[in-house]
Amino acid sequence: MKISELVIASHNQGKIDEFSRMLAPFGVKVVSARDLNLPDVEETGTTFAENASLKAEQLSDACGKPCLADDSGLCVDALDGRPGVYSARYAPNRNFDAAIEKLVKELEDTKNKDWSAHFACVLALKVPGQKCQFFEGKVEGKIIPNRRGDKGFGFDPIFVPNGFDKTFAEMMPDEKAKISHRGKAVAKFVKEVFEN
Ligand code: IMP
Repeated sequence: MKISELVIASHNQGKIDEFSRMLAPFGVKVVSARDLNLPDVEETGTTFAENASLKAEQLSDACGKPCLADDSGLCVDALDGRPGVYSARYAPNRNFDAAIEKLVKELEDTKNKDWSAHFACVLALKVPGQKCQFFEGKVEGKIIPNRRGDKGFGFDPIFVPNGFDKTFAEMMPDEKAKISHRGKAVAKFVKEVFEN
C-alpha cells in the first residue's frame, strides 16, 4: 500500500509530535487534524478500538485522505482498569497536573500497595474506499506517587515501565518510542504499510 500523505486524527500535540517523529524515516507527509482545522470527534465508544475507528473514519470522510487515529489510555490495576478509555476526560479541563494529583490520591485512598498499570494504544488506519485496519500496543509498568521528569505528556511523569527505573517523562522521545504502547503499535503499522 502506498501512502504519501497521512492525517493524524488528533488534536493532542504530545501525540502528534510522537507520530511525526516516529514516521519521519518513511517519507510520508504527516499532517494533523489540527493543521487541517478538522473538528474534534466525539468519543462515544467504550473500547479503544471503537474510539480509534470513529476518529479515523469520520476524519477521513471529512478530508478524503488516509487517516491514522490513536486511542490510548492508562489502565491501573488497583482501579479496576480505570481511567482506561476515559483517560483524556479524567483530567479536569484537560489539566494533566490536576489529573496526576487526582490519580495518585485515588490510589492512596485504595490502601492497595500494588500500583501496577499499563498503557494501551489502538491505532486505526482508514484509507478512503477501504476497511479500517487496526494495530495495537501495550506497555506494562507501575505508577509512582511523586512526578519525575518534564518530557512527554499526560501521565508520563508518574509512569515507570517495567525493567526501567525512569519515568516516561525522564526518557528521550526515541527511548520512549522503542518500548511504549504507541511505539509498538506504530511498528506494526509501519511493517504493514511501508515494508510490505
Ligand atoms: P485519547 O486522545 O482519547 O486517546 O486520550 C488519550 C489519553 O491517555 C491522553 O490524554 C493521556 O491522558 C493518556 N495517554 C495516552 N498515551 C499516553 C502517553 O504516551 N503518555 C501519557 N499519557 C498518555
